[in-house]
Amino acid sequence: MNDELDIELTSRYPVVYPPISNSGLHGFECGSGWFHLLDATGCLIQRRMDAAKSEPFVAHQIKEKFGELRVYYSHGDAYVSAVIDVIEGLSGRFCEICGDRGEIHEDQGWLSTRCARHLGTSAGKTVQREGQEAPQTGASPLHSPSIADVIDSALSLFGGNPTHVIGWYTRQAHALGGIAPVDLLNHPAGRAQLLRLIGQIEHGVYT
Ligand SMILES: [Zn+2]
Repeated sequence: MNDELDIELTSRYPVVYPPISNSGLHGFECGSGWFHLLDATGCLIQRRMDAAKSEPFVAHQIKEKFGELRVYYSHGDAYVSAVIDVIEGLSGRFCEICGDRGEIHEDQGWLSTRCARHLGTSAGKTVQREGQEAPQTGASPLHSPSIADVIDSALSLFGGNPTHVIGWYTRQAHALGGIAPVDLLNHPAGRAQLLRLIGQIEHGVYT
């Protein structure tokens, strides 16, 4: 993760991602393309900890492993665990370098998640994210829900079951014209569409 985004995450969510001097967390050992996933994770966990006053979540290591994001941590309740499972499970659909749609590829036994443009590119290189929204500060406007909002709604819909949430996000949906919900997460209009769909499912419009 490039330094600018690293600082952005630790300053937005100092409890979830404490600065290096205060913890054993040595930065984010993954590419900048997963910034948006780590931003949603930080947002949801910090929100949960503020509301539940539960034992503080402690992140020990955040890294890429077998092509996917891995968060090693202690404490945190069932909700925190579900959030992390969902984010890890969806990371294999986003290029670790740029955050665009990606797939897990194998190269001589090494697994990595890349878009077509970044096949063969090492995440160790500092590559600025391209074609993505700039990190947002403050709350999203109502018409533009955040990734955190959409993931939280899906967790609520599926009773906090991360396996069901990941399954729903990664399966093509008839209601979305055959697009998998995960492919709409990067776009504000797509996230608004997902929130509407989740609301319709909750109200029994789709079964
Ligand atoms: Zn890419």
